[in-house]
Amino acid sequence: MRKIIYMDNNATTSVAPEVFEAMSPYLTELYANPSSMYSFAGEVGRAVTKARSQVAQLINAQETEIVFTSCGTESDNAAIRGVLEAFPSKKHIVTTRVEHPAVLNLAKRLEKKGLSVTYLSVDRQGMLDLEELREAITESTAVVSVMYANNETGTVFPIEEIGSIVKEKGSLFHCDAVQAVGKIPLDMQRSQIDILSLSGHKIHAPKGVGALYVRRGTRCRPFIVGGHQEKGRRGGTENVASLVGLGRAADLAAAYMQKENTFVRDLRDTLQHRLFEYVPDTLLNGHPEHRLPNTLNVSFGYIEGEAILLMLDEYGICASSGSACTSGSLEPSHVLRAMGIPYTAAHGSVRFSLSVYNTLEEIESTAKMMKQIVKRLREISPFNAESDFAPTKKM
Ligand code: PLP
Repeated sequence: MRKIIYMDNNATTSVAPEVFEAMSPYLTELYANPSSMYSFAGEVGRAVTKARSQVAQLINAQETEIVFTSCGTESDNAAIRGVLEAFPSKKHIVTTRVEHPAVLNLAKRLEKKGLSVTYLSVDRQGMLDLEELREAITESTAVVSVMYANNETGTVFPIEEIGSIVKEKGSLFHCDAVQAVGKIPLDMQRSQIDILSLSGHKIHAPKGVGALYVRRGTRCRPFIVGGHQEKGRRGGTENVASLVGLGRAADLAAAYMQKENTFVRDLRDTLQHRLFEYVPDTLLNGHPEHRLPNTLNVSFGYIEGEAILLMLDEYGICASSGSACTSGSLEPSHVLRAMGIPYTAAHGSVRFSLSVYNTLEEIESTAKMMKQIVKRLREISPFNAESDFAPTKKM
């Protein structure tokens, strides 16, 4: 395989070698069903217990508060549907216009079934209006579902202030922390979050494994009903190897947290500075400070993000326009549109999302490549300075 420069870690991450190594015995010799009675199964069961404790430690929660799931999407569905089932008389939920489709499309589906949903707006930097949140929550609000950090722009919401408002108004707080976990420190003992979603493949564990943190005492009915696994909170024979991988990845994420917030942040900032230095008419999407350390979303005036991606791909550079889940559609990202980013600027956006495996050399060569690519595309672009692209933020 040719060498690639991978800068799409908000879409998915590589499985860390240590994770692969930890998983491998559970894909080969240690195959027992952890629910079985013999001691061979006991060994497998202990691996699941260890993984639960590793995940709990990463977010400073209790082991008993972790429920394993198959992915972030399942965790989001389980949280919202689980709370709605536990509070059948409450027919309202609050969420934001910039959530991942795992929450947004569920909310739309629930609306069709008669539930009422308030979608909170965001400002130009992707931030919420906390007064709007306060006013939105009523006695019939079952749950407020607000993400920790946005997958497209990296904007980090003021989760503790949001939590205080939700508690003050007497509702439950679900937080989709799929992008925040492993990138910024999270502490459930000090937080007001009741239910939190996370996903393995964003933190160098495999795809198809996730978890839900459910604060002790929180009323949330099971979403997948079946056997007595996960203490009856989620049926289905455990995906042991992936759970072991998730546990090991949680350990690694804790160990790399410092590096993520220094080395990775520096790489991201260097890329940002280079792009603004080399390419005129660029616009930063997302909050300049309250942002995940690995994420950079930039709009390049007068050209299309998709065209940039195709040219980057020729050089083996992987980035994304909009989120991985929505690219493929021609509509510009719902997140950038909700932020009021002009149509052509939203179309010209590219997201670079880094990891501890990136290097300064990769950053420098990507920035140089971008300079040439944007120049070439602008030469043939039908858009010009008269279009609605409006660079407001120069570095
Ligand atoms: N929530 C957010 C914020 C995400 O970024 C993603 C994936 O991109 C998900 C939920 C869905 O997670 P998964 O791919 O594990 O289903």
